[in-house]
Formats: sequence, C-alpha cells, structure tokens
Amino acid sequence: MKTIGLIGGMSWESSAIYYSCMNKAVRRGLGGFHSAKTLMLSVDFAEVEHLQHQGDWKALDQMMAEAAVQLEKGGAEVVLLCTNTMHLCTPAIEASIGIPFYHIAEAAGRAIADKGLKKVGLLGTRFTMEKDFYKAKLLQDFGIEVIIPNSEEMDVVHQIIYGELVHGVIEEESREKYKGIIANLEEHGAEGVVLGCTEIPLLIADEDVNIPTFDTTTLHAEGAVAWALQD
Ligand code: GLU
Repeated sequence: MKTIGLIGGMSWESSAIYYSCMNKAVRRGLGGFHSAKTLMLSVDFAEVEHLQHQGDWKALDQMMAEAAVQLEKGGAEVVLLCTNTMHLCTPAIEASIGIPFYHIAEAAGRAIADKGLKKVGLLGTRFTMEKDFYKAKLLQDFGIEVIIPNSEEMDVVHQIIYGELVHGVIEEESREKYKGIIANLEEHGAEGVVLGCTEIPLLIADEDVNIPTFDTTTLHAEGAVAWALQD
C-alpha cells in the first residue's frame, strides 16, 4: 500500500471526512486490521480564507506548494488537496513536487463519464464556479459541459459554505435553498450535479434531489485509495 499525502484543514470539517473515508475504503479492500497509510498536513483555514478573499493567489500558491513539498519530504507518494477551490494552485503544486498530484476534478470527471453524463451543474465556492480551472478540466479531459447557477444563486451557495458549512453548521433552510438551486440547474439541462466543495456533502445527499450527485470528497478519497492499493 502506498502512502497518501493530504493537504487538509480547508476546512477540517471535510478533512475529517477524507480521513474516515480513506480508512473505510482500505478496510473494505483489505479487511482485517488494515488501515490507510496517510500523512496529513493541516493548515490554519483563517489564513487561507483571508488570502482567498483578498485575491492573493500568489501567496496561496506558495503556501500550497510548500505544504506539498513537506508531504513529499515526509514520505508521501501522492499529494491530494482536500478542497476543490484550492485546486486553483495546481500549477504551483505540480511544479514543486516530483510525486503525482491527484486532482479532485479528475475523480469527479471519471465518475461523471462512467455514468455517461454529458452536461452537469456545478456547486462550490464562487471561485470554483466562476473561474475556469475546474470547468475547463471537466470539458477538456472528459468532454463534460458544466453549467453554473446565476449570480444571485452563486452568492447564496458561497455564503452558506463560508458562513455555515466550514463551521460545521447544518441548517434545514440552507438545504432547501440548495435543493431549489439544483432544481434550477436541472431545468437548464443538468443531468447531474457536482458537489464541488468538500463540505457540501454535509448538506446535500442523493436522496435530496432528482438528479445524480457527485460527492467530490468521497470520490477523491476513494480514488486515492484505489491508486494506493494498486500493485
Ligand atoms: N472546502 C471547500 C472547497 O472544496 C471550500 C473551502 C476552501 O475555500 O478551500 O472548495
């Protein structure tokens, strides 16, 4: 089994899911006393959130690249970022390490393609929904068209992530708002919805909506374990 390196803490609410999910996947795969070989470097989300909202992606590039280097030095054989948004720093991370970087949209794209879907909605932070890094990867690598909510809805999705979900706060009213926004995406032709923020699966599950959901936290964690268990 290979050692999985994780840059976590963004937020720790979802990093905890990665940890549990990876260990469960190894138990399912190997049984007995087996558990996942992991190394997590968990950052202070207050620093990250501040820089994100200041638009200082240069400083974030450096912070993420340094974290990845530390994981490699510590013996990690692959690096994962336990957040969708921070994949904006992918080029800086990839340039700084000699081990593979497993992109979260790779895990999502594969699952969507396996289901044969061609057009999906994307929910996440405003950075993930609005900027091109995530949508372009799904389109270029998998031929999947991505649609996003309107500007007002994006504000709602973003505010609920930073105001509630990263603090572990789950509100029924917010779940209803998300369900309405996903229904609108469905009306615009989305055949599925990418839960493109690692805390959204705390709020929305498959049974809440009519179209298939793609839980990026679980897909990413399980995809990494599948890789780690290969011969
Ligand atoms: N965990 C979230 C994501 O997947 C949001 C927190 C962050 O900005 O990293 O995008």
